[in-house]
Amino acid sequence: MCRSLKAKTTQEGQSLGVPGISLLWRLRRTVSFVWKSGPVWTVANGVLIVANGALLVLFLYAIKLFGDEVAKAVEAGVDGTVSDEQQWQMLLMVGFAAGVALLQSLSQAAGRWIGEAQAQAVTDYMYGILHDKSVAVDLSYYENPGFKDKLHRAQREAPFRPRRIVSSLLDVSNNGVLLLSMAALLVSYHWAVLPVLLLSSVPGALLRLRYSSHYYSWERKATPRERLSLYTNMVLTLVDYAKELRIFGLGPMMRSRFGGLRDELRQEKLIVTRRRSVAEFVGEGLAVVGVFGVLAAMGHSALAGTISVGSLMMYWGGLQKSWASLGLMLRGVSLLYEDNLFISDLFEFLGVEPRVVSPPTPKALPPPRSSGIRFENVRFRYPHDERIVLEDVSFELAAGEHVALVGHNGCGKTTLVKLLCRLYDPTEGTIHLGDVDLRELDLAQYRGSVGVLMQDYCRYQMTMRENVWLGNIALDPRDPRVDRAVEEAAAPTAELPEGIESMLGSTFLGGHELSTGQWQKIALARMLVRDAPILVLDEPTSAMDAEAEEELIRKLRTQAQGRTTLLISHRLAAIKQLDRIIYLHQGRVAESGTHDELIQLGGGYAHLYELQSQHYR
Ligand code: ADP
Repeated sequence: MCRSLKAKTTQEGQSLGVPGISLLWRLRRTVSFVWKSGPVWTVANGVLIVANGALLVLFLYAIKLFGDEVAKAVEAGVDGTVSDEQQWQMLLMVGFAAGVALLQSLSQAAGRWIGEAQAQAVTDYMYGILHDKSVAVDLSYYENPGFKDKLHRAQREAPFRPRRIVSSLLDVSNNGVLLLSMAALLVSYHWAVLPVLLLSSVPGALLRLRYSSHYYSWERKATPRERLSLYTNMVLTLVDYAKELRIFGLGPMMRSRFGGLRDELRQEKLIVTRRRSVAEFVGEGLAVVGVFGVLAAMGHSALAGTISVGSLMMYWGGLQKSWASLGLMLRGVSLLYEDNLFISDLFEFLGVEPRVVSPPTPKALPPPRSSGIRFENVRFRYPHDERIVLEDVSFELAAGEHVALVGHNGCGKTTLVKLLCRLYDPTEGTIHLGDVDLRELDLAQYRGSVGVLMQDYCRYQMTMRENVWLGNIALDPRDPRVDRAVEEAAAPTAELPEGIESMLGSTFLGGHELSTGQWQKIALARMLVRDAPILVLDEPTSAMDAEAEEELIRKLRTQAQGRTTLLISHRLAAIKQLDRIIYLHQGRVAESGTHDELIQLGGGYAHLYELQSQHYR
């Protein structure tokens, strides 16, 4: 356990690897989350704790008064007669005890309501923190399985652990207060009662702590398999997989994979929890022996006449409450310990720092319409991968130039686009806009000057207008530029009943599913509405028919006039009209020139072009 804590503290950059300090640091940070999510609820909870403690003492005192009153009446009674005054006294005591019990119920009901309100506030606050971090981290984290494990655990723990930690803290303090108030009472019977209670309860608590760490280690180890089972569940239930699942008859096989994984996880979890339950039973058994031993001693004292019947009732009540409070307090401590272990997953995630960031003092953005883009000796490998994807890549896109990037699958075209959009930074070498390294520019400002159509563009399950407007949310959604972009991209408005206001996709009621080519046109409109001086299009026409493709490239030539444009395509006939073609081969720039120059060169590009031309002859 210490080893894992040490590892985590280092990642968090906190507390010099000292587990105790790290635990305290996490506790403090968790409490601050809870406080920030709802200070009023937190204060209300604190007030209720104190009130509950006071009400319990008051209740036990009322019971003592009642017991003594009855005992007094029995002692003084002649022939079993009871005076009116004694009747009234006894009823008054019962009324007092009932009044206190009612107040206790009221305070408990208020506690449940406040607890729920606080739980909701903390959950929503934690989602906010998780979402902020998810948006801030680098793209590379999403392409890394280790990070996905972290994110999975953080998402699972964040909504409820902070609240549980605080409720455990409250439980510990609440029951601690109760125990203290009961302690004074029990000590008045005999000093040895408390040590007996403690000694009989502590072994159970230690066992629970031990099994909390076992459970935590198991959960961490099980994360990749848990994610695999969730993924298999997605394959079985999401529309994206529904067609292939049916055509290839994958249902039963996926079902059995999912079932196998769940069986394995369930059995392992049952083993861990069974051991914990056995340990808990042993611990509680010991405590029972202690408590009933004390009760036997109290019974003996009552028989010997050292304490009254009322006192016996009060001490027994006090003993029961102390036993329950001590049990709840120790349980709170072990839950705190366990939650603290699990919350470290959240802090591990929150501790992930993005590397692709703006510098502290960014340089002014060179005017993109008059500044070229220059790759200089760029070398790149993905952070979690050893393979070099781009090697010694140097080329320049002059301002306003329209350039095509071509090459075989996997030669690095999309990777190059990711670098150009600064989703990643080069491993070595530099990329310049004008004279400035992209890393010296403000990230948001630079990205704001790039309009991009990714190969794996998004299909937002929103209206067509919103789908396009997302490309430039600085505009009002009703801005005519949104309508113009839809028109320019030839997005399918006429075919849909509510035109541009139609809901798209099949996820929500009233949505209209589009063809892949139509979705691609929507993504293109999203890029166009940005009105960016630099345009990057990664296979923008891959799903379009030949006519749409021809039309699009022709239009782009006019619309992109004066804007630096990089276009990736496998359809060489469509891109030969561009100013220049860069042929990428195995992560290197192998050829660069106009279509005619490259054909004359007779290299890789000419070979590809020849192959494609044969099909059309
Ligand atoms: P292209 O767009 O030319 O088809 P890519 O740029 O997508 O090629 O991929 C280039 C190489 O980088 C391929 O070998 C691919 O396996 C690898 N690659 C792509 N994305 C990732 C990633 N996220 N992590 C690791 N390797 C990747």
